[in-house]
Amino acid sequence: MTDQIAAKKPPAYDARLLTQALEEAHLPSLMMAMVHLTGDTSLMTPELRPVYVAFGDGQGGLSEENRARVRASARSAIERYFDSGMRLAAAPSPKTVRRMMDFIAGVDIPEQYAPFLTDELALDGESSKQPRWTSPKLAAAAKGLRVLIIGAGMSGLLAAIRLKQAGIPFEIVEKNADVGGTWLENSYPGCRVDSSNHLYSYSFEPNHHFPNHFSKQDVLLKYFQDAADKYGLRRSIRFNTSVIDARFDEAASRWTVRLKRPDGKEENVTANAVISAVGQLNRPRFPDIPGRESFAGASFHSAEWRHDIDLAGKRVAVIGTGASAYQFVPEIAGQAKDLLVFQRTPPWLLPTPNYHHDVGAGKQWLLEHIPFYAKWYRFWLFWMSSDGLYPAVKADPSWSGPPTAISQRNQEMRNVIVAGLKHQVVDKPDLIDKIVPTYPLGGKRALRDNGLWTATLKRDNVDLITTPIERITPRGIVTKDQVEHAVDVIIYGTGFHASRFLWPMKIYGRKGIELHEQWQGDARAYLGMTVPNFPNFFCLYGPNTNIVVNGSIIFFSECSVRYIIGCLELLAEKDARTIECKRGIHDAFNRRVDDMNKQMAWGMPGVTSWYKNQLGRVSQNWPFPLVDYWKATLAPDPADFELN
Ligand code: NAP
Repeated sequence: MTDQIAAKKPPAYDARLLTQALEEAHLPSLMMAMVHLTGDTSLMTPELRPVYVAFGDGQGGLSEENRARVRASARSAIERYFDSGMRLAAAPSPKTVRRMMDFIAGVDIPEQYAPFLTDELALDGESSKQPRWTSPKLAAAAKGLRVLIIGAGMSGLLAAIRLKQAGIPFEIVEKNADVGGTWLENSYPGCRVDSSNHLYSYSFEPNHHFPNHFSKQDVLLKYFQDAADKYGLRRSIRFNTSVIDARFDEAASRWTVRLKRPDGKEENVTANAVISAVGQLNRPRFPDIPGRESFAGASFHSAEWRHDIDLAGKRVAVIGTGASAYQFVPEIAGQAKDLLVFQRTPPWLLPTPNYHHDVGAGKQWLLEHIPFYAKWYRFWLFWMSSDGLYPAVKADPSWSGPPTAISQRNQEMRNVIVAGLKHQVVDKPDLIDKIVPTYPLGGKRALRDNGLWTATLKRDNVDLITTPIERITPRGIVTKDQVEHAVDVIIYGTGFHASRFLWPMKIYGRKGIELHEQWQGDARAYLGMTVPNFPNFFCLYGPNTNIVVNGSIIFFSECSVRYIIGCLELLAEKDARTIECKRGIHDAFNRRVDDMNKQMAWGMPGVTSWYKNQLGRVSQNWPFPLVDYWKATLAPDPADFELN
């Protein structure tokens, strides 16, 4: 699974496949791959340089004529490459690579981004995220450690892979019967990833055969199952086992973790360090609507989909229009006799024409067989999503426009999106007021729009109800206008207990203090990972590490795991037994986070979502650019910690 394929035998290809590949190619990435094939940078001219086109087709605004020119040039370069027995030109110099980055990004990338992007691009296969415990001291220390990971989803598996590479013994405890976490639990119809798949994958495990740009749940689940198999992790996982609590033993400087085994019995295990990889979005949240328990029909939560309940011919209510409902409502609209969608707040919809498109065989072929095409494609996705929308969701303090936007740029994006939505519902104009948010773009998770949502809402058997819900009765849902909507089934797309981090586990740190008591409903951590009073305890996807508009959460987990392995390295280097973040460092960091979150669309007063906790503080989101997290997590600063 690497791009270093020059040693492989030439794959069978024919002119037709090549033509298809060139048609389907992401041309900016193809141009960069050509530089590797030929050493020729002459395509990097101003007229072929991609420009940023908001919600465009990704081809950088190239004219048809220039597209044809790039394809013709690529065809002859690829033919020569195969004719030569797949010989690559000399590797481009660092200066050329820097120029290539600016070229494909369509902007002069600020210098501070260069190391970050070079690391992400990893043209030579080298990445800062790969642990290097090669010195005899570290290698010996690694063997003496034992780490317990809680959760075998995306980030728990990642931690295990990296610990294995560092030579550190570990065990994973998983409450489910298989790996995959969110991709195992969420099996609702239409479930698919909404970050580009070629980015939403481990940086070191590209999959050139994702069938869609945004693949479905079963594909993602298989991807993580395959990773667990490839790295031989299953034998280190206790399935159907949950953590009841974990206690730090100060005298022994280690954790004792109480498990509930599949046979129902309890067992204690000990570890020098614990990594929580339990995610933020896996404890379903039902709304506190009076009478909910009285409903006489079937009801279930989207994350606990009842595949045994046939919706055909039924009158079905869906509560919620967040990311989950947005995906399953179009799928079930064709089955239900009537579908009543209860919306409290509309989501923002980002135009994404290829949301349901297949990745063509030609593009898959390029990803697999043309050296460095996949690297540059991922790089382009990464760059476009890392800072693409970020400036548009940051408030301009001098903004004097309407409160439905927070800056000129935010307003302009709003205008583009609203114009598109109006176009979509031109035949049903009464829908427009219901589907256009009154909060600024970026306030909540924006969803991927290819027109299917509005097409579904326009169906004769679908009704979008925006009158607030008052109560639930045995027969159905009563809205504030006292209309009772009788239904057979209620489906809750009402999200998760996101801000109750690590709940319902109990974690007892120094002097027996319990983590949730320390937090008092307001979870905080240093860089999302470490908490004072909880030595050798680390969180993945912890407080303030969720991202809204930039990047992929896998990137965040990769940075966090690098940092956690760095903390273990510090322990080993300093011959210490515990590492605990200093209170002052933790508090100062959280102040910076809070200050910045208040300047972001999701932190605006009046904007509500799962990003804010019960106290109204944004406890989920990282408010800075991605590069800041990458830098902050390169390696732990010993001055930030008590090492004993
Ligand atoms: P969510 O975003 O929290 O949405 C919950 C929905 O339920 C919202 O529309 C909310 O309305 C509504 N709701 C909650 N309580 C209600 C009440 N008492 N009465 C009426 N409506 C109520 O949950 P989600 O859709 O499960 O998504 C959660 C997160 O999971 C997403 O933001 C995303 O990060 C992730 N996710 C990702 C994917 C993907 O990548 N494919 C798919 C699904 C989920 P308000 O907005 O008014 O609160």
